[in-house]
Amino acid sequence: MIKRNTVQKMKIMEYLMSTKSHPTAEAVYAEVSKDIPTISLSTVYRNLNTMAEDGEILKFEVGNEAHFDADISFHHHVYCKVCKSVFDLHDTEIADYIKENAKIPNFKIESTNLIFVGRCCDCIPQEEMAQTAPPAAEEVQIAAE
Ligand SMILES: [Zn+2]
Ligand SMILES: [Zn+2]
Repeated sequence: MIKRNTVQKMKIMEYLMSTKSHPTAEAVYAEVSKDIPTISLSTVYRNLNTMAEDGEILKFEVGNEAHFDADISFHHHVYCKVCKSVFDLHDTEIADYIKENAKIPNFKIESTNLIFVGRCCDCIPQEEMAQTAPPAAEEVQIAAE
């Protein structure tokens, strides 16, 4: 017998796995309630938080909102402050570089949770985009050991 709670959680997980948009709880609720009209926003919140605590999904805050991600592989995020989109950044070199080079007194870094804030290409005016030169090669190649 599948419990009602399990069905709700399954639907939430199903939706999270189907999207790369890193939805907020409200966005998850909007989708899941199409399948389960009786589900409440607080139930969605509770499930998402429990799943994040159990390490089944990622939870991170940016733009004053919590976002959720079914991709729990090691990666960082890029956040567009204009359209509020969140994109994945799979670049372990950045984190390794920070771990090795960040000097924080009396503290040992074990993991990093980076969010790069800026504007995505859809939100940068054409003229400005043309001026944004690609980064120089030596800036990109960091911490090559
Ligand atoms: Zn944007
Ligand atoms: Zn992600």
